[in-house]
Amino acid sequence: MIIVMKRGAPQGLIDEVVAKIEHLGYRTHVSQGEERTIIGVIGDDRPIDPGKFAPIEGVERILPVLKPFKLASRDLHPPDSLVDVDGLTVGGNEIVIMAGPCAIENREQLLETAHAVKRSGATVLRGGAFKPRTSPYSFQGLRERGLELLAEARLETGLKVITEAMSPEQVKLVAEYADIIQLGARSMQSFELLRAAGESGLPVLLKRGLMATIEEWLMAAEYLLSVGNQRVILCERGIRTFEPLTRNTTDINAIPVVKELSHLPVILDPSHSTGKWEYVSAVACAAVAAGADGLLVEVHPRPEEALSDGAQSLRPERFATLVEQVRRVAQAVGREIAEPEWTSKTPA
Ligand code: PEP
Ligand code: MN
Repeated sequence: MIIVMKRGAPQGLIDEVVAKIEHLGYRTHVSQGEERTIIGVIGDDRPIDPGKFAPIEGVERILPVLKPFKLASRDLHPPDSLVDVDGLTVGGNEIVIMAGPCAIENREQLLETAHAVKRSGATVLRGGAFKPRTSPYSFQGLRERGLELLAEARLETGLKVITEAMSPEQVKLVAEYADIIQLGARSMQSFELLRAAGESGLPVLLKRGLMATIEEWLMAAEYLLSVGNQRVILCERGIRTFEPLTRNTTDINAIPVVKELSHLPVILDPSHSTGKWEYVSAVACAAVAAGADGLLVEVHPRPEEALSDGAQSLRPERFATLVEQVRRVAQAVGREIAEPEWTSKTPA
């Protein structure tokens, strides 16, 4: 349920309503708009009798939130959420490009890729240190050594860094190095992990599960928000369908659907959603045309030697072309690509 306060309702009345709701055993979420304050009533599924709040001075309307996600819902927070990543904004007019190798393999590979993606216009470096692999015999990642290399790449390039945590125990370690914690598709409903990542206080990028509906995905986001972490970025990465010619099927629909249902920023990972580098640029452009707030792209200096996901990784030159194509699409829809703040200050 949400309580919409009258335009310009004074803080004293807002506090009174909040106190009343909390006295009834519910949690509140106050969203201060430019004109009106909206108070979300968060609790279990028990129906709340709106009569308990009306008439209260200052209350304009009481509306039910019929969706199971509340904090993630646009009803509760009508404007787009802007997620601050240490000075870089995700969810605003500027499209944020995150790029790098699927897995951190060694120092040279990571640094070479980091410099290349920075030159082309990425502002965030991706790279997995803990890799969720289908086979236990596949490369599992460099673990803490990988995180150290990521920190070195950040220091050298000034790029922000994003990397995955696969378990609640890994969150603490990953949080020491990362600017954004990535939660993978296979972990989307790992509820203890969601809670731990949420409690880390760092921005979290939540990938959509391979078989998850949009509503299940938003419910997973609700876990992060419900522990008080407002910095949640959603990432569509393709879903499993009957189509075998691509690794997954890009659910472009999900972008406008999520934008309508939720205030959270949504980005696309065209590398996993297609599984083949040949299709990555086209789908990246489509996502930006559809309203995505950013991209997460796999880039490798020598994809044929990659220890994971080589088939969907772009060579740096191809990534540079992707950025230029995406830039044109962004301009066509009235947006821009986020420029790194250091462009004029530090060499590439
Ligand atoms: C990845 O980003 O490398 C990854 C494992 O992605 P996903 O969780 O979407 O499969
Ligand atoms: Mn990958």
